[in-house]
Amino acid sequence: MATHRTGRCACGSVNFAFEFDPTFIAICHCLDCKKASGGEAATWFGVPTTAFKITAGADKMKGFVYVADSGKKLTRNFCTECGARLYTSDLEGFPELTFIQIGSLDDPSGIRPVLEMFVKRRLDWQQPLDLPQFSDMPH
Ligand SMILES: [Zn+2]
Ligand SMILES: [Zn+2]
Repeated sequence: MATHRTGRCACGSVNFAFEFDPTFIAICHCLDCKKASGGEAATWFGVPTTAFKITAGADKMKGFVYVADSGKKLTRNFCTECGARLYTSDLEGFPELTFIQIGSLDDPSGIRPVLEMFVKRRLDWQQPLDLPQFSDMPH
């Protein structure tokens, strides 16, 4: 049985839950992840959209449609009360997945990155982890 996981925005207005054990958990250093998160990288994983639901505050959310570097569209979903990013959905490349960043989870234990990608964009002070390294997308 898949683990029941919950997450929320910074102010707690919007809550979500999913029943899924992610296996592809990436630390992504790409420019989109840098710009969208404001950090050096983003740690994220995909969950089947059918296994994902908003459990509180659906009326406090806004989605922003954006065309990524790849030329593909996606929607970034934010809390309108605190501005925290909740998840990314409707990716043209992966329409059946919702992408969640690990920091949104209430309890991220047991979810660990399995690779690093777009490491060509990694800043020089950031040490690689002992994980498979991909210059661009994994292949
Ligand atoms: Zn919030
Ligand atoms: Zn990225």
